[in-house]
Amino acid sequence: MVSGRFKSRTYARSQVRTPGGGNVLRHTLRKPKKAHCASCGNVLAGVARGRPAQLKKLSKTQRVPTRPYAGTLCSPCSRKKLIEKARQQQA
Ligand SMILES: [Zn+2]
Repeated sequence: MVSGRFKSRTYARSQVRTPGGGNVLRHTLRKPKKAHCASCGNVLAGVARGRPAQLKKLSKTQRVPTRPYAGTLCSPCSRKKLIEKARQQQA
């Protein structure tokens, strides 16, 4: 009998082949949603997706692009933001 917490769809179900050749249903944690831009809401490119423990295994450059506002704003929005900031400093 399955444990009660596995009866809800909080956990993803996947068929796994065991070393003995049988197929077993396994309950695994779902992957989190893709990162979205804080300004326009588009899906962010180049941002890794996974559980925190999996992301820790990646190098810093594999996790997020190396640019200001990476991981929060998409590239067109961050470009606009940087231009806005530069214009505020001049005035
Ligand atoms: Zn954006």
